Amino acid sequence: MDPKLINSVKQLLGQRDQPIVIVTHTNPDGDAVGSSLGLFHCLGNAGFSRLSVIVPNPYPSFLHWLPGNGEVITASLQPENAQALIREAKLIFCLDFNGLARTDQLEDPLRNAAGIKILIDHHPQPEPEFDLVFSFPSYSSTAEMVFKLLEGLELMSFFDHDAAACLYTGIVTDTGSFSFSCNNSDTYRITARLIEYGVDGERVHRLIYNTYSADRMRLLGFCLSEKLVVIPEGDTAYISLTRNDLERFNHQVGDTEGVVNYALSIENIFMAALFTENEDHIKVSFRSAGRVDVNLFAREHFNGGGHKNAAGGKSFDSMKKTLARFEKLVKNGAHLHE
Ligand code: 5GP
Ligand code: MN
Repeated sequence: MDPKLINSVKQLLGQRDQPIVIVTHTNPDGDAVGSSLGLFHCLGNAGFSRLSVIVPNPYPSFLHWLPGNGEVITASLQPENAQALIREAKLIFCLDFNGLARTDQLEDPLRNAAGIKILIDHHPQPEPEFDLVFSFPSYSSTAEMVFKLLEGLELMSFFDHDAAACLYTGIVTDTGSFSFSCNNSDTYRITARLIEYGVDGERVHRLIYNTYSADRMRLLGFCLSEKLVVIPEGDTAYISLTRNDLERFNHQVGDTEGVVNYALSIENIFMAALFTENEDHIKVSFRSAGRVDVNLFAREHFNGGGHKNAAGGKSFDSMKKTLARFEKLVKNGAHLHE
């Protein structure tokens, strides 16, 4: 990380009593919440007294055990509170997203905010709407970046077990438990340091991955046995879920997390997609292996983006139309960019 840039943040952090907001993207995942709370704990321990963590909407219950969960402000539930904090903030840390549009209803309040916006993110192609930009797509996760930043800021004397548990969660979830984006040995060195702070890796794994409700497990079974479609000529597999499907299994936030990865686990499948019907749009999750670039595919065809091998987007057509369009694109090789 550029020492000049780190120095600028150091200068900005001069006053301990200035209002500071940490904000992350909509539908927050383990890295979004973990990196935000990791930064929150360390800055809090360092004496910053007016810190807030704001998420646009609720996150899955398998992240509710994270230390600091009770402090998180959910903008969709407390819009006025969230907007006032953003308006008054002197510094706004923007974690795990590369454009304000990724924060949905917080986009305008953030755009209009007077506070200095510091981006800390590992998605490619950041938008030019931040004042200070830490953008490193080679990092496994934003959590790993936060660790490096705290080291650079010489704040590690305030780092503790709670901060470590949050950053560990970010790394584990964004690497699929060290199964992708994990070929950089630094990731393991930092993970080792987090374990040295007393993180119980087995417990964290259990809390994140082995806390399914029976309904969620049955929804997964239904996806795999009834809803999986394979397009062998496009090396692609996908799953779609209508509102009806979701209601049948008493769907809760986070229940479809990880489903798309199963489609990618099939031999000779290099792109996987999950289509989930929301109230006013269809949310699409993409995963890929190797050279298929789903960031490009999501940007070009589904109003989205993300990483090369994990991206998302939206469709405003019906499910039927969306799936027909997707199948056509894949059969025409639109996901093969070379
Ligand atoms: P997921 O499929 O787990 O929701 O998201 C996978 C990756 O794609 C994450 O890095 C996430 O930030 C990004 N992503 C998901 N949905 C969108 C979207 O609608 N727009 C953009 N630009 N990125 C998205
Ligand atoms: Mn991330």
